[in-house]
Amino acid sequence: MLGKLNMDEFAMGSSTENSAFMKTRNPWDLDRIPGGSSGGSAAAVAARICVASLGSDTGGSIRQPASHCGVVGMKPTYGRVSRFGLVAFASSLDQIGPLTRDVRDCAILLEAISGHDPRDSTSADVPVPRYTESLVKGMKGLTVGVPSEYFIEGLDPEVEKLVRGGIEALAGQGAEIREVSLPHTQYAVATYYIIAPAEASSNLSRYDGVKYGFRASDYSSLMEMYQATRTEGFGDEVKRRIMIGTYCLSAGYYDAFYRKASQVRTLITRDFKNAFIEEGCDVLAAPVAPTPAFRIGDKVDDPLQMYLSDIFTIPVNLAGIPAMSVPCGLAGGRLPVGLQLMADHFQEEKLLRAAYNLELATGFANISPDLEG
Ligand code: GLN
Repeated sequence: MLGKLNMDEFAMGSSTENSAFMKTRNPWDLDRIPGGSSGGSAAAVAARICVASLGSDTGGSIRQPASHCGVVGMKPTYGRVSRFGLVAFASSLDQIGPLTRDVRDCAILLEAISGHDPRDSTSADVPVPRYTESLVKGMKGLTVGVPSEYFIEGLDPEVEKLVRGGIEALAGQGAEIREVSLPHTQYAVATYYIIAPAEASSNLSRYDGVKYGFRASDYSSLMEMYQATRTEGFGDEVKRRIMIGTYCLSAGYYDAFYRKASQVRTLITRDFKNAFIEEGCDVLAAPVAPTPAFRIGDKVDDPLQMYLSDIFTIPVNLAGIPAMSVPCGLAGGRLPVGLQLMADHFQEEKLLRAAYNLELATGFANISPDLEG
């Protein structure tokens, strides 16, 4: 263990600008964000400070920073990796996963952290494969689905070009490419921003200053202690989520918001099942984020714009399936872009195989940012 890395406070954010500490910069361009919330984890691997790091992914927080920093990042199937020791953000969405320089390191680290843990009741009792054995050359026999809802207005043309180039490279290695539809994708961001804050507002109620964590020093009653602790202890974005979540769960609103969102979540999961089972796709290929890393300060005052940068990563968490970001090139010759691969529950081996072949085609694992310049 080398150390802890920076992140958005309670993993809420897409740029690491909500950190309670300092700014983390993108090693490829120091004026840009590294992504978030696991921005420190991605930046450290990209800058060769460490061989590998861990991140948590509730709505994209491993894959989006991996994409922006040009490293490999995987969100495993919900339940694949124990959440024991992880501070809960949204318990039905959170997963821990690896950020690494290449796909082989990802497989090695995934194998080490996967498996059943009696201390996490949602951790799955499913055997852990030898993940390094899935790094097989060639894509013969595999079908790659391309969901049309992930190539929409607002997708940066350079990102689209690089992602489509990556898909062509997989076709060149023998994969069959098939266009598919995930029709409920458009509702994913709205659904997530009800479910995640609702669960967060409940999880964060334990930060009342009584048992652990920060406690305000100035108060004259128990109620004042609670109020001062939570007012002083939480940052703006965390407070925003607590307020949204508490509102969505309050009497009279629960059915209109939380229950409805849970129903839409089922529809989003069915879309994926349809692509994998009915359409016969082994993996789906899509962008990770609509743009390359944006500039520090660009979205920090506009929460809605910040939330929209998660548009392509959130559906995976709602469905609980595994997905990863693999570098597929540099936009404008200097900003990394990740290609997202998604697979059915516990099909991480298929992800790794496709990722490995993409990596062989791009040769990206040997490219690193110029940190001397
Ligand atoms: N950016 C998303 C959010 O702010 C996802 C964060 C995450 O995956 N931890 O909620």
